[in-house]
Formats: sequence, C-alpha cells, structure tokens
Amino acid sequence: MLKAMRCLVCENLSLKLLCQHCLDSLPLRPTSRVLECGLSVHSFFGLNDIAPIIHSKYHIFGSRILSRLSGHCARYFFAKVDIPAHTTAIGLDDLPRKHYAHTAIIVRAFCRASGGVLRPSYGTLIASNPISYAGKSLEFRQNNPRNFVYKPKIHKPDMGVILFDDIITSGLTLTQAYECLNAHNVRVLFAITLADAKF
Ligand SMILES: [Zn+2]
Repeated sequence: MLKAMRCLVCENLSLKLLCQHCLDSLPLRPTSRVLECGLSVHSFFGLNDIAPIIHSKYHIFGSRILSRLSGHCARYFFAKVDIPAHTTAIGLDDLPRKHYAHTAIIVRAFCRASGGVLRPSYGTLIASNPISYAGKSLEFRQNNPRNFVYKPKIHKPDMGVILFDDIITSGLTLTQAYECLNAHNVRVLFAITLADAKF
C-alpha cells in the first residue's frame, strides 16, 4: 500500500514531499555571477523564494526535498546547456555531516539528468575546517577559511570540472574550493548552486 503523505507546501495529499504542482510553481530565477577569482557561478532560485523549502534540508526529510529540487534545476539546465563529454561533477565538502551530504545529493541529481555526460567524483574536495558559515559575517568567514583538501581518488585531473554547492552567499567558499583545485592544475569550467542568497 502506498503511504499517504502531504506536500510540505500546499499540504494536499501527495506521493512526494513536494507535489508536482508546487514544484512547477516555484519561481525559477536563473542568475549568473562571476566571482573575483574568475569563477562563473550559475544559480536557479532566489534564496528568498525557496527558503522555507530548502531549510527543510535540516530536517530528516530534507534529503528527498533537496533531491527533488536538484532534479528540477538539472532538467532545466541540461535543456539549455551542452557540456563536454566526461565532465566531472565535484560537490563541495560532500561528507555526510549530521544526516547526509547535501552536495552529494545535488551532484547525484545533476549526473542522472545529464544522461551520463556528467560523472560524479565523490569525496574529492573536503573541508579540513568544516565550520558552519550560516548566519556568520563576511569577516568571520574570511578569518575562518574552510581549508579544502583535494583528494583525487577517482577524479582524472585532465577532465573539466563543474563545482556544486547548495547556496551561494558571499562566494567565499566557492572561491576557496576553486583556488584549491587551481593549485592542483584542475580545470574548473564553472560552478552551479541551487540558490543565490542575493535574491
Ligand atoms: Zn503542493
């Protein structure tokens, strides 16, 4: 028997935690930023528009919501953008902390939606200082770098890389990740985040 659930947003009965109607109603707001380091970052939602949903990632159901949002963004992305074959997807700091690894879920959804063009490399870019930046000032973030460590276990460094994170705020985390990979001569094509906190 199928278990009846309710959509988190409209509370109608639904087989998914976020029903199709509510998923389709989320306002996509594709934006791009170029960080000072030269990295382009593409996002799909304004954080304000999806904050109540994306914050459910901190709950136990969050991984399914995050997976559903990521698949939605990925289908939108691959309908518009062709990427080179054998591009590698690297999620920032994709170790499971608390319940699960946010960026690993995003990477998995994008790789699935790419039809095999994008290949995941898990456990490749790990923060040796896994401090939370949530609600912290830019000064705090600058004084407490994540200190990423590159672990090329699976990744073949000659292939281009797309970096994945859930939210971009200052861009500092992505800049640190980009600089770490650059130092190892890894070619980063661009970065993708689900939501931009500027909007
Ligand atoms: Zn709904």
